[in-house]
Parts: sequence; C-alpha cells; structure tokens
Amino acid sequence: MQPKANIVDLPVYQPGKPIEEVKKELGLAEVIKLASNENPFGFSEQAKVALLADLGNLSLYPDGASVDLSAVLAEKLDVNSDQLIFGAGSDEVILMIARAFLRPGDETVMASHTFPQYKHNAQVEGATCIEVPLRDGTHDLPAMLTSVNERTRIVWICNPNNPTGTMVTHSDVQSFLDQVPASVMVVLDEAYVEYIDHPEFPNSLELLKQYPNLVILRTFSKIYGLAALRIGYGIGRAATIRSINQVREPFNTGRLAQAAAKAALLDDAFISFCREQNRKGIDYMCSEFEALGLDYFPAFGNFVMVDVKRPAEPVFDGLLRRGIIVRGGHKLDFPTHIRVTVGSQQQNEAFIQALREVLAQ
Ligand SMILES: *Cc1c(COP(=O)(O)O)cnc(C)c1O
Repeated sequence: MQPKANIVDLPVYQPGKPIEEVKKELGLAEVIKLASNENPFGFSEQAKVALLADLGNLSLYPDGASVDLSAVLAEKLDVNSDQLIFGAGSDEVILMIARAFLRPGDETVMASHTFPQYKHNAQVEGATCIEVPLRDGTHDLPAMLTSVNERTRIVWICNPNNPTGTMVTHSDVQSFLDQVPASVMVVLDEAYVEYIDHPEFPNSLELLKQYPNLVILRTFSKIYGLAALRIGYGIGRAATIRSINQVREPFNTGRLAQAAAKAALLDDAFISFCREQNRKGIDYMCSEFEALGLDYFPAFGNFVMVDVKRPAEPVFDGLLRRGIIVRGGHKLDFPTHIRVTVGSQQQNEAFIQALREVLAQ
C-alpha cells in the first residue's frame, strides 16, 4: 500500500510533554506545565454544572448542527447562526477550510513561523505553501500581499501569532483586506482574542461586515479552559460557512463539548478574571525577563516568547529537571528562544526561580 505522495514526508504533530510522563521520567512529585497555552485557572464552574447535567445522555448522539450552542454564540457575537461553524477544536475548522477550498497546485500564503496546522492541512490537500518570514516576530502583511497571485486561494493570519505572541492591528488588517483580491479567502485565527484589551487589536467582526472573503477562527481551548473537550469555531459569511459545512463530518463535536461551551459563554466573570490575571502575569514575567537582561517579543496572548541568548535545548532541559515544562525554541526554529505560557502567579514565580537557576549555571 502506498499513501498519497504529498503526505509521505509530513511530520507527526509533537505536543508539549504531558505532566504525568515528566513526573515518571524524572521522579518529580510536582510538575508545572507551561507549554501548551492552557488555562491555569481551569474552566467555568457553570460549564462543570452543564457537563454533569448532561452525563446521563452519553448514549445519545450530539446535535450535529450544534443548534443550541450556535444560538447562544450568535447572540453573543451579534451574527446569524448560519455564519457559525463548529469543529473539534479550531484545528478541525482549519482542516475543513483546507478540505473545502484547497486543490492540488493551489497556493496558500502564511507566515514563517506561525501555527503549524495551516501548512499541515494545506500539504494534505496537495496545495503549495508560500511562507513569508515574520518581521520582528510579527506578520509582514505587505510582504504577504506581494506573495498573492492568481493561484492563491487562502491567506492565513494568526493574531496574536503563535509562537511569537505578537499582533497585527486593525488598520494593518483593514489595509491588507483592501488590497487583496476578493477571490482570496483571508483566515484570521484569533485563538487568544478573549485575552486582549488592546485598543488597536482588530475588530474582526466589524471587518467581516465589510469583507465577505474574511473567515475568523476562535476556540474554547484557551481562555475558556476546555481544551480536553475539543471545540472551536469559525465565523464567516453564510455562503462560505455553508461550503465548509459541506465537508464537515456529521457529528464532529461532542455533546459534552457543546453543553460545556454553551454554559461557558454565559460566564463572563470567569473570562474577565482570567484576562486580568493573565495581564498581571505577563507584566510580572516581562519585568523579570528585563531584570535578567533577556529580550522578549511583545506578548498579546497568554504566552511569552523570550530570547534566552543561548541554545534553547539545554535551558528547556534544565527547566524540565526542575519540574517546569515549556516549549523549547529548538523545536520551533527559534534556536535561542523558549515559549512559556502565563500560569498562576505561583507557577510564574516557580518558573522564574527555575529560569534564574538554569541561566546562572
Ligand atoms: C491553540 C490554537 C489553536 C487551536 O486550538 P484548538 O484546541 O484546536 O481549538 C488554533 N490556533 C492557534 C493559533 C492556537 O494557538
């Protein structure tokens, strides 16, 4: 048997190391994972109540069209239900967009480096990825624009960018959308949008009213703290969402995921709390990095990419031995950086203490 030629060399996704594995390997009692941008404060109590209430229904298929969840989210975002599509994480929405819109030989434009799933799914479809280098860790939208040609079908903009944490502004994106041909889909991945209170961050829902080729991606995995349940969504014009829906598997999101997501949307207090704690955590970490003489990219999500000014792998290993899991830049093509998720204040302090020890060696 031969797999499709275009997938033969595809890498298998390497997640952050799981806590249990590190505990066992290194004989540690306590391990703090700041590697996958998970919410250190867990998830909404109201989501828990909704989950428990639905546990008796596991023998029933979920509502394939997520009607109840769509209604709540549509009202919250002030869009119509037919402008929403749900996936098993926004990862699956990326997959569905690629499946519905990319043909072999099509071109798709993305930053280098950015969230790996755009490239991965484009390659599965046999499309050609045009990767445009970041400038100072930020999407270079003018350069991305010049990479668009008549073969381009989709441009991916990750905002804030993972792994660097940088953002492009409303006017940057608006000017890009003004110039890109309307036949090119522009996907704005806003996995961390709820963390942001910056006045220049794009109001993407307003942009969607002006630009029919825009698709916005969001998720319940990050600030909502429901990563285990696998649920995220896309927002677009009804016609675009309909096309994506045509390639969706019938029951792609689970009952429990839908129930928890719906309840989580109504708990604004939990989201505000997490946003505030995250802001304090970023300020704390960045001032500590400055005290250590380290540079970092401006951080707009719930993670910071810091230049440790020496090879990342030994720093990653040193932190691991002290029970702290981060993302090593050596795996992300940033040989002297590490990416660290903002944790609780206690976790952040433990990380900084460990980093001080490792850098002092
Ligand atoms: C985490 C993340 C996602 C996907 O998360 P899901 O768990 O699949 O919803 C998508 N884009 C970016 C940039 C992310 O960081």
